This record gives sequence, structure tokens and C-alpha cells, in this order.
Amino acid sequence: MTQKHDNLIAGEWIAGTGYTPNINPSNLGDVIGEYTQASAEQLDAAVQAARTAFPAWSVSSIQARADALDKIGTEILARREELGTLLAREEGKTKAEGIGEAARAGNIFKFFAGECLRLTGEVVPSVRPGIGVEITREPVGVVGIVTPWNFPMAIPAWKIAPALAYGNCVVMKPADLVPGCAWALAEIISRSGIPAGVFNLVMGRGSVIGDPLVNHPGVDAISFTGSQAVGAHIAQQCAVKLKKVQLEMGGKNPQVILDDADLAQAVELSVQSAFFSTGQRCTASSRLIVTDGIYSKFVEAIKSRMATLKVGDALAAGIDIGPVSSLSQLEQDLSYVDIGQKEGAVLLAGGQRLKLSTDGFFMAPALLTDTTADMRINREEVFGPVASIIRVKGYEEALFEANNTPFGLAAGVATTSLKYATHFKRHSQAGMVMVNLPTAGVDYHVPFGGRKGSSYGPREQGRYAQEFYTVVKTAYTLA
Ligand code: NDP
Repeated sequence: MTQKHDNLIAGEWIAGTGYTPNINPSNLGDVIGEYTQASAEQLDAAVQAARTAFPAWSVSSIQARADALDKIGTEILARREELGTLLAREEGKTKAEGIGEAARAGNIFKFFAGECLRLTGEVVPSVRPGIGVEITREPVGVVGIVTPWNFPMAIPAWKIAPALAYGNCVVMKPADLVPGCAWALAEIISRSGIPAGVFNLVMGRGSVIGDPLVNHPGVDAISFTGSQAVGAHIAQQCAVKLKKVQLEMGGKNPQVILDDADLAQAVELSVQSAFFSTGQRCTASSRLIVTDGIYSKFVEAIKSRMATLKVGDALAAGIDIGPVSSLSQLEQDLSYVDIGQKEGAVLLAGGQRLKLSTDGFFMAPALLTDTTADMRINREEVFGPVASIIRVKGYEEALFEANNTPFGLAAGVATTSLKYATHFKRHSQAGMVMVNLPTAGVDYHVPFGGRKGSSYGPREQGRYAQEFYTVVKTAYTLA
């Protein structure tokens, strides 16, 4: 008998319309638990609970907020091994990656515990005599949070923590594929001392619960991470209803490898950012842009390195890459390998489903060569362990190809030249730029986000998070 998990509404655990089994993608026979599906009425009740809690929470003591967030962060960090194991079992990244993500979530809560105490305003002189002007920040209100499946603990954390820190109330809908981590987080939050109704969790499908959450008149702002298609749809709905909205979406991130790169380092960072976490990271490098002079050596070396990668059960020791998270994602990944080859690309390594000792969604990481910028494989986000190589003549062409994408989340350059590193940092059209580091893997205390089709609205994380989670007030006083 697997454990049943309910929605958190107004401080109560409430069963929805039924339960869905949460299946381990490394072992389809392993049911992690049963998670309820919220009804439309329950979504309404959650928004109402948040609205009711907002007046008191919005003016609550910053010490109380800091203490609660610190308590949440402390518990997550203390339980990082257990929570990271749940994450690996549910989403499929390796246990080490899962523990790392859990630790990141804990640190995010700790960071925003501190931020509760650091919110400042401005006092400025008026252009008119005898008047004082104060500029302050206030909470936005009730924030709807919609999250994807690939970072089931870190992404909820980096939205919930600043929302609460700045005095907002929250209704969160996690991805239907991975409710386990969100539920675990909600359970920790429910014991943190935060009043009932300030944080609510509603589980269920995007079409059933996500859409009404976005459109609910009681929700003032939406923070969404997920695909570009859903993000664009949400932005339109928010625009019509004049809601504040923040979107983090996909990527088609370039990793440039220049002739003067340290070859071993370039191979390692490319393999890491293309294939680790099963390539299911919005910051993954899916386009390796390699200059002529290093091309043959790089292709040879990355092929050898890929031959050493171990794909397997996310919880097993010594595994580099876990399973793909779902059957539909696996089918999408395999279909892009096919599409790439039909477009003329050459499959250098991997690209097939793997049969291992447990029944799971395993796939050998795929690398395609002889690709061109106009191929679908280089324009559309695959979101799996699939990368391609684009050969270019030199730095100028590499930079052009790096920017030749509708996305703009992360970009990397491998080079030993200060001149090229500096130029790339300045001229890359991405929100995050890495020099001799994988495009995936960022700090938790600085802004995260992209440009062009990757992001919309204010940045997430670090102090910049306050742009979205607060509204500015200008007050004038006659002295
Ligand atoms: P989706 O866009 O399919 O789903 C994201 C969330 O939106 C899920 O909770 C989903 O619910 C929900 N949703 C779906 N339809 C609607 C709707 N009409 N109204 C409201 N909510 C809805 O993305 P995935 O979960 O597949 O995540 C993968 C995507 O996320 C990739 O494109 C990836 O690049 C992106 N991503 C971006 C990041 C960034 O910061 N830039 C970071 C991580 C991922 P349900 O699960 O029920 O479908």
C-alpha cells in the first residue's frame, strides 16, 4: 500500500478528486506514492485562503518571516540526503545530483531568510519645497507559482522563498509528473510557523489546475517556469487580465570551443552540460560550436569520453546519467535523433533506447555531427541527452552561430584567450555567459534568466527577485 498525499489548503491536508501514482523512471515497477488531483473548487479554496491570509502576512514582522524561512532551509539541508534521494527516484537525475539540488533548495531558503531583513527603500528630496518623498517596496499580493518537472525542488524553492520573504501569499501548482518533491517541500513549510493559508499546494494537471490558477481573479501575479509554448500562452492570459507575470522558458544553449581551448577541459565541460542530468536542464548545451583548428581532435576526444559514460538507475552507485523522466520525453528525444539524421546529420554516438536490468526510460546520450544552423535539431529545444556539433571557421562565425537562435538563456565559450573571452562575454546574446565552465550549473544568490525567447519579465533569484515579488510605492509628505 503506497502512501497517499493530499493538497495543502488553508493549513489543512485535503484530498482531491482521486490519486495518481508517482512512478520511478528508473524502475517502472516502483511506485513512490499516490498524489491527489485538486478540483477546480479546491483551487478556488486555495486562492481564497491565500487572499484571507494576505492582509496579516503582508505586514507581518520581518523577523517572523526570516525565522520561518531559516527553519525551512535548515530542515531541507539537514534532510538533503533523504530529499535528494526522493528527487532522484522521482525525476531520474542521479542521487548525487538530487542531493545537490536539495542542498540548493535549502540554501535558497536561507538566502531569502536574510533578504527579509535587508529590504530597503529610499528617501529623496522633492523638487517642491517642504515635501518629503519616500520610495518603498510592498508585496504584490497572491502569487500563483507554476513549475516544471526537471528541477522539482530547486525551482519551487527559488519562487516560494522570495514570494514569502517579501510578504506575498502563494498558491503553487507543481508539474504533474513530479509532485513528490513539491509535496515534501509543502510539508516542511506547513511546520515552519507560517500562518495557515500563506502557502497552499494544489496538485494536478496544467489544463485542469494550472489554467484556472493563471486566470483566477484572486491571483495578482504568476511566476512560471516551463516550455515556451505554455509560457507564451500564460503571458497572453496575464496581459488580458493585467497581471504581473514572470516566465522562464527553454533554451538552445551554445557551447563554443575555440582553437586555443584546453582540449580536455573543453570536452569535460561539453559532456557535463550536454548530458548530465540527462540533458534535462534549460541551461544544457545542446549546440557545440567548434572551430576548424580543434575540430577533429575535439570530435575524437568527446567520442572517447562519451564511451565511458555510465547510464543507469538514478539511485545506483557509479552512474553518470539517469533515465529520461517520462516515456513521452524519451520518445521526443529519440525522434529528434531521427529528425537530425534525416536532415543530413551524422550520429557520432548513442541515440538509442537502452535495455537495462530494471525497466526504465534509459537512453544512450546522442551526439550528432555535420549539422548546420538551419536544421531543426539546432533550432528547437529537445530537452534530453541529445547534442549536435556545428563546425565553424573561426571566432567571428562561432559568435554569430552562438547568437543565431530564437533563445537566449545561457552560452559558454572554451578558450585560453582573454581577448575572445572578454569579447564573448560582451557580445553573447544570452542572459548567462560562462567562460571555461559548463553552461549548466549556476549559483543560487545571483540573478538567473535569459533573453529573447527564453525569459520574459523580471529576473529570478538573488536580490533581483524583489523586482517581481514587490511593487514600488512613492509616498509624498508635506513637512
Ligand atoms: P511545460 O510547459 O509543459 O509545463 C510547465 C508547467 O506548466 C507544468 O506544471 C504544467 O503542468 C503547467 N501547465 C501546462 N499547461 C498549462 C496551462 N495551460 N496553464 C497553466 N499551466 C500549465 O514544461 P515541462 O514541465 O515539460 O518542463 C520542461 C520545460 O521547462 C522545458 O522547455 C525547459 O526548458 C523549461 N525550463 C526552463 C527553465 C528556465 O529557467 N528557463 C528551467 C527549467 C525548465 P503539467 O505538469 O500538468 O503539464
